[in-house]
Amino acid sequence: MKVISAEFVKSAVRPFDYPDDSVPEVAFVGRSNVGKSSLINTLVNRKKLAKTSNTPGRTQLINFFMINDNISFVDLPGYGYARVPSSVKKGWGKMVEDYLEGRKNLRLVVMILDIRRDPSEEDTQLIQWLRMNTIAMVFVLTKVDKYSRSRMNVSRRMIGEQLGVLSDELIPFSAKTRYGRDDLWRVIEDACSPVS
Ligand code: GDP
Repeated sequence: MKVISAEFVKSAVRPFDYPDDSVPEVAFVGRSNVGKSSLINTLVNRKKLAKTSNTPGRTQLINFFMINDNISFVDLPGYGYARVPSSVKKGWGKMVEDYLEGRKNLRLVVMILDIRRDPSEEDTQLIQWLRMNTIAMVFVLTKVDKYSRSRMNVSRRMIGEQLGVLSDELIPFSAKTRYGRDDLWRVIEDACSPVS
């Protein structure tokens, strides 16, 4: 995918503040520090479009970006930071659920997991919730540069078993080496192509 333009549009908390929904949208989600911002930046070939290494768990916003004037990317706030009070967790749940349930142009949720970690309870809860709401998902296993190829394949299979998906449905990715970038773009473009 040739990225010609990638621009920050706005941050929002409530649906009232979202930008208009005229182009297909892809939302990125994962626990804090999983590498979500790095993944978005790698996809769009920008160093700092999505902000990396924020204080994990800080109350965050939903950030909207416009790519090539025809795809919208949404950076959903990360979850699962242990030291966040439960009131903040509740706020996170409401903010993200409102978005996922109500966004008409949402075509795909990119769920990001660390290849080196077992999926957390929050990961699996979110996946179940997305399945229940029949929202299209793709799974990305990031930071694969930390592993040898054989170790990567073993982890990929194990995480697939834990999530109940075929390992083919898990896209290995690295923001460091850009491994998997083209594969992920193919899935995104497919999901965003006009519905026939
Ligand atoms: P976010 O909180 O999910 O947005 O995570 P960030 O993108 O800020 O990344 C968290 C940390 O992981 C940073 O120190 C990144 O440099 C590092 N990181 C992210 N992606 C990769 C990757 O693919 N490989 C390696 N080795 N490190 C990564």
